[in-house]
Amino acid sequence: MLCLACLVLIPALLACQGLVPDPDTQTETETKQDEEKYTYLINIEPYLPFIDPEDQSQYLLLVNKEHPLGESYTPKDLAELECRTNGGKTLELNETAAKALYAMLAEMNADGITDVSVTSAYRTYAYQSWLFNYYTEQETASHPDWTQQQVKDYVLTYSAYPGTSEHQSGLCVDLWVDGMTDLVNYGAETSSPQDPGFAETFAYTWLKENAYRFGFILRYPEDKESVTGYSYESWHYRFVGRKAAAQIYQNGLTLEEYLAEPQ
Ligand SMILES: [Zn+2]
Repeated sequence: MLCLACLVLIPALLACQGLVPDPDTQTETETKQDEEKYTYLINIEPYLPFIDPEDQSQYLLLVNKEHPLGESYTPKDLAELECRTNGGKTLELNETAAKALYAMLAEMNADGITDVSVTSAYRTYAYQSWLFNYYTEQETASHPDWTQQQVKDYVLTYSAYPGTSEHQSGLCVDLWVDGMTDLVNYGAETSSPQDPGFAETFAYTWLKENAYRFGFILRYPEDKESVTGYSYESWHYRFVGRKAAAQIYQNGLTLEEYLAEPQ
């Protein structure tokens, strides 16, 4: 028979030996349990080393208005995307993120969502620069009464200033669904600060729940504009690796908030 003292002492001893999960490892345990519940429709095994890379730190690169990459930053390990791209465009992405993306698109396809393509991936500093100027010209023409500063402030709510675009990291994609013809210029951060309709698609509903299983996060959630500095973008997905993605998803965080926490 166990004495009362033992009932108190045994859990305490186990905790000292690290056998009782502390809150940090608890999240990991929950993630694993959740993964066990989910049955992949595709054979996920060949993709796992990419979805869940050993060294995830390189995929946690923070790029935002306060953390620009600068003009000379070019990502290493870019690969040409071998999946459906909008209008058959040639696009590049980090090769690990690309493999994780293939798995995600294949899973969506297996789940009946067959109309998704990639409309934007890696963007050079020069391209972002061109894009930013293009929007500035458009907004200036649409709002002749605005000052240059007003125009710039407005454009900054939906387009990144050159050097501050996450697309320059080669770690994110903008997705597209056939029929989204109301979008003036293909891709995210392109036509207007309003959602072009991606949030209304089955693809979005699916991605919202499942992107993290493939190491991707919804980078600019609806209610986090003050943290990310960007309006809600239902179509923009960032690769961070599955471990970080699961924690970000399950705790309702942004990448900024996740990185601010002790790892
Ligand atoms: Zn984007």
